[in-house]
Amino acid sequence: MAAAIDQPLSELEAFERQVAGCTRCRLAEGRTQVVFGVGDPQADLMFVGEAPGFHEDKQGYPFVGQAGKLLDKLLAGIGLERGDVYIANTVKCRPPGNRDPQPDEKQACEPYLFRQIELIRPKVIATLGNHATKQLSGKETGITRVHGQPQRLNVGALAVLLYPLYHPAAALYTPAMFKVLEEDFARLPELLGAPVPEPAPVVPLLAPPPAPEPTVQLGLF
Ligand code: URA
Ligand code: SF4
Repeated sequence: MAAAIDQPLSELEAFERQVAGCTRCRLAEGRTQVVFGVGDPQADLMFVGEAPGFHEDKQGYPFVGQAGKLLDKLLAGIGLERGDVYIANTVKCRPPGNRDPQPDEKQACEPYLFRQIELIRPKVIATLGNHATKQLSGKETGITRVHGQPQRLNVGALAVLLYPLYHPAAALYTPAMFKVLEEDFARLPELLGAPVPEPAPVVPLLAPPPAPEPTVQLGLF
């Protein structure tokens, strides 16, 4: 977004300009433009989706297609609109034919997402779908098992609440999934008001070290 004349660029705006020319991965080849992210640069709530699709690539903003309309509707349901939150993706350029982003592409783009998070300093990061959830949680557990379960996440020195949600595109044609997404969304206001939990205490190891392996008794096998 263009800054008004005479106003110095914010760090986030300066960073956006820097990323606009990125060629760190092959997704640079087919894109129209980098889709950096949009919304309140100081939002308490940040959404992370997967990757720009056709319309996002053309318009330069995340979630402007069908899935985006659903996201707007879900936001309205909790009294928020786009301008109240920040929306970004795990990769900033459209994969050809809307294929899944590949591991090396996600890895190449990851520092940009982390830097965005550090600059925006949200309280809650709602990850939309498997890609964003696995990338930010660092765990392979799928969205079906972890959706709606807030967990603590450290990004550099920042402690945030990671809140995995189904991807709105998946909920578009599956009413049952939409219902779950709506229910999970309904908890967002409460989470935004809650303090980020302390990390789980490290339990000191009081148990004696395990006994050495018993010697194998020949004849039993
Ligand atoms: N789906 C995504 O994951 N991100 C977008 O920006 C649009 C659709
Ligand atoms: Fe750069 Fe990310 Fe685009 Fe790859 S997807 S070219 S790393 S901005």
